Amino acid sequence: MKTISKSIKSLFKPYLTVKNGYKGGKGISSTKENQKTYKLSSNENPIGTSPRALQAIKNALNDLHLYPDATDIRLREELVKSYNYQLDINQFICASSGSELIDLIIRAFIREGDEVIVSTPCFVPYKMFSTWSGATVIDVPLIKENYALDVNNIINAVTNKTRIIFLTSPNNPTGSYISKNKFESLMQQLPPNVVVVFDEVYWHFADAENYVRALNYVSKYPNLIAINSFSKTYGLASLRVGYSYMNIEVAAYLRQICKPFLITKLSLEAAIASLTDFSFIKQTVDTIQSEKIYLEEQFDKLGIQYYPTQANFYLITPPTTSNEFVHFLAQEGIAIRPVDNFGAVGKVRISIGTRDANEALVKALKKLKIVSLN
Ligand SMILES: *Cc1c(COP(=O)(O)O)cnc(C)c1O
Repeated sequence: MKTISKSIKSLFKPYLTVKNGYKGGKGISSTKENQKTYKLSSNENPIGTSPRALQAIKNALNDLHLYPDATDIRLREELVKSYNYQLDINQFICASSGSELIDLIIRAFIREGDEVIVSTPCFVPYKMFSTWSGATVIDVPLIKENYALDVNNIINAVTNKTRIIFLTSPNNPTGSYISKNKFESLMQQLPPNVVVVFDEVYWHFADAENYVRALNYVSKYPNLIAINSFSKTYGLASLRVGYSYMNIEVAAYLRQICKPFLITKLSLEAAIASLTDFSFIKQTVDTIQSEKIYLEEQFDKLGIQYYPTQANFYLITPPTTSNEFVHFLAQEGIAIRPVDNFGAVGKVRISIGTRDANEALVKALKKLKIVSLN
């Protein structure tokens, strides 16, 4: 193979380096015969997909040769209803996943040399997509003991180059959240020309009394943008669809760079159908809440160190190195996620599964305990 000429290479952006890749949570291919496998590595919905969404997908199958809707307007109409008309239709922007919206916001606001602030351990795409636009990523880590947001240090880190701050509540991979006091204190102190991206994709699972969403604050703060996804609670990870809401003028600005026909027909119909499938949403949340009680009881018995969670997963300090732990569970047919690259070195993230999956996990953990005692 001919090596490419230096002149082409001189066009490469210096901040686009090959090592900048993101790896998603792995699946597992069974090693032992007849072994059931469980994927607890990507925080997906353990009970599957909304039956109403599945029906909508079946109904749409005859139209696959046709282009989908050019815009997201039908999904936005449905969003307005599901939000009880608290927001205007033009405050919403939909795209082909929550990640895509994160990227869209970055592209809309970041110029080379600008700064973004993240608080590790956090969702990797914030950093990854920011560097794609030539931004400098400033890390203000979460407070060590309990992974709470470090509001004072964020305020201290703001410079005249700061364009975006990424907040996640409940946070991935820690399961921690931002209290109402902390959030309000941050918003009050921040300059109004810093965009706050509030990623609330796990909000359905949060039940802490002082948990807040961006919803009650977007009218007060035009610099606040909420991110949501259909990948988690709505069980549509495979179809790549998400939405955000914000101030109406900011939404109009962002809408200029929404690609036509961005959301596939199947994704659009499934999202519309699942948004108001309240019984499926309730069943999902109920499953997570009751499995949390089961798992915490078992973790306590086994002496497994976990962090309290407001989401559908646990951050765990494994009894062995994280690699050994991940490998051991993989052999037992259970895929979990090492989260060193999120900034939680030596820890792992385990999604909450169905009772069947969680029992398999507990069984494997018991086995590990016996193995390590010997
Ligand atoms: C899963 C997730 C998203 C969105 O995922 P998509 O599948 O891209 O919609 C966004 N933020 C966080 C923190 C997540 O964990």
